[in-house]
This record gives sequence, structure tokens and C-alpha cells, in this order.
Amino acid sequence: MRATVGASVSRETMTWFKKRKQNLESVPVEERVVKTENVFVKCEECDEPLYKRDLEESLQVCRHCGYHFRIGARERLAMLFDEGIYEELDAEVISIDPLSFVDSKPYPERLEQARRVSGLPEAIINGTGNVGGHKVYAGAMDMLFIGGSMGSAVGEKVTRLIERAMKERAAVVIFAASGGARMQEGTLSLMQMAKIAAALAQLDEARLPFISVLTDPTTGGVTASFAMLGDAIIAEPKALIGFAGPRVIEQTIRQKLPKDFQRSEFLLEHGMVDAIVDRREMRAYIIKLLDFMMNPDIQRDSEQSTQRRSTYQYERQ
Ligand SMILES: [Zn+2]
Repeated sequence: MRATVGASVSRETMTWFKKRKQNLESVPVEERVVKTENVFVKCEECDEPLYKRDLEESLQVCRHCGYHFRIGARERLAMLFDEGIYEELDAEVISIDPLSFVDSKPYPERLEQARRVSGLPEAIINGTGNVGGHKVYAGAMDMLFIGGSMGSAVGEKVTRLIERAMKERAAVVIFAASGGARMQEGTLSLMQMAKIAAALAQLDEARLPFISVLTDPTTGGVTASFAMLGDAIIAEPKALIGFAGPRVIEQTIRQKLPKDFQRSEFLLEHGMVDAIVDRREMRAYIIKLLDFMMNPDIQRDSEQSTQRRSTYQYERQ
């Protein structure tokens, strides 16, 4: 310490300018960094910095590499409906704790935390409105709510969506994002798969379309039920889509799996999805599908054929 002082004294005689000693006001630690976390984000795929407002404009898709950031359920519905306007439905349908389930914490506590973190009542949001002028009942799942897991409330909400569409002769669009069945509700979660599949069979009987959009990630019981039952199954690029994880499959079949075998592109190649659509084109693509599927001429024909079929069934009985 003393050596330093000596050095500064000798230098003082040689310098041209004198630095006046000034007591700097100390800046508190939390203010020393310029806050940029709300302005820029880094692309998870290509590491490029992205201006947050640009990212919002491009619907949370990286403009450098096309990486699709995960988005929330409400954003998803706003992107779908005309002018972003829709009426939210069934917000009162929420999970209870039928099994008094406790893992690392009691299930009611987990639900409460999920509601706080996601700002959503459940892992799916239902809404209705117009899409390209067509009446649509749409649902969007959200990974922030206990991993987008499907419990009895999610199952009930999806079923109500389908039943409403049948009553109004409208189309159903669902954006899947899920880790699978909700373990905390045990077999009640698994029963939702059958319940929704049955409702979708009725929708099919009524000749009304269900467009299923698979987003990153769509796995487990959701893939094993309604997500793969769409009349049109569309996936976002590079989305993880599967039933069980790769490790479980490798251990079961005792074989190494091909690279990226659970990604949208692989599934398209193998005929499991109908199309991969960039999020920025998604709304236009869905409108095109609806224009075709909800075409009044086709609808009239199919109504007649449904009537014919039911008369036939009646006569057979
Ligand atoms: Zn990128």
C-alpha cells in the first residue's frame, strides 16, 4: 500500500495536468449495470441479439434463423383471430385436487403457483371469434402452466370447445403445447384422452373440421389423443412432437434412434403431419383451410350425406 502511494507522488511531479482529487459518489451496485434485459433478447438457436420490439412484430420468430420462440396461450389466440379479438370461454373450469396428491408439494399449492406464474386459470385457454370471417372455437395450451399438462379441467375445456362448435356449426382449432397427462390427477387425466376422442368422433359425424396445430413441444397424452386426430395436422418448424422421450424409446426397442426423429420435419417426411407452417404464415394458412373446409357448398353436401347416412342407419335398425 505504501509503495503505491510513493509511486503516485513521484508521478505527480512529471504530469502536465493535475487531477484534482474528487470524492466520487458511489453508485449503488444494482445501478451500475445499464438495464438492457427488456430491450434485447438472444436467439436460443443462432445467438444473434434480437430487438424485443422487432421480435414481437415477427410473432416471436428470429429473423436471422427462423427459430420459433415459445409463446403463451393468450398471445397464440390473439394471433389467430381477426383483429386479435376473441371472447374467452370456460375460464371458470379449473382443476380440483381429487386425489389429495402430494409430490414435492401439495397439488393445490402447485396449481396456485402455476396460476401466479402463467397468469392463466388452466393449461388451456378457450376462445371464440372469427378467423377470416369464419366462426371458430379455438383453444391454446400453455407450457407455463404445469408443463401444459392435461388434467380433467383441460380435458373438459377441450370437450366443451368441440361441443360448442357442433352446436354452432363452426370449426375447431387447437394449438397443442404439452408435456402430457397431469400426473397429479392420475387416471382421471388419462380418461380425458378417451373423452376428447369421443367428442371429436361426433364432430367428424357432424362433418365439421378440426385443425390441430402442433407447437414445441407436443408430447405424451396430448399427442396420443386429440393432437393427432386433426382433419388437418399442422406443425410449427422444428417443434418437438412425440409420445415418449427418446431415452425411453431407445431402452424399449434397444436401438439407436435417428437424429431429430421427433421433430416436425422428420414427422412430415414420414407422413405423420400434413404441413409445416411458419408462425408468420400460420393465420393465412388456417384461413385458407377454413375457406375450403367451411365452403357452404361442401358443407351442404356433407350435411345431406350425414342425413342420408343417419336415415340408412335408422333403416338398418
Ligand atoms: Zn436465430
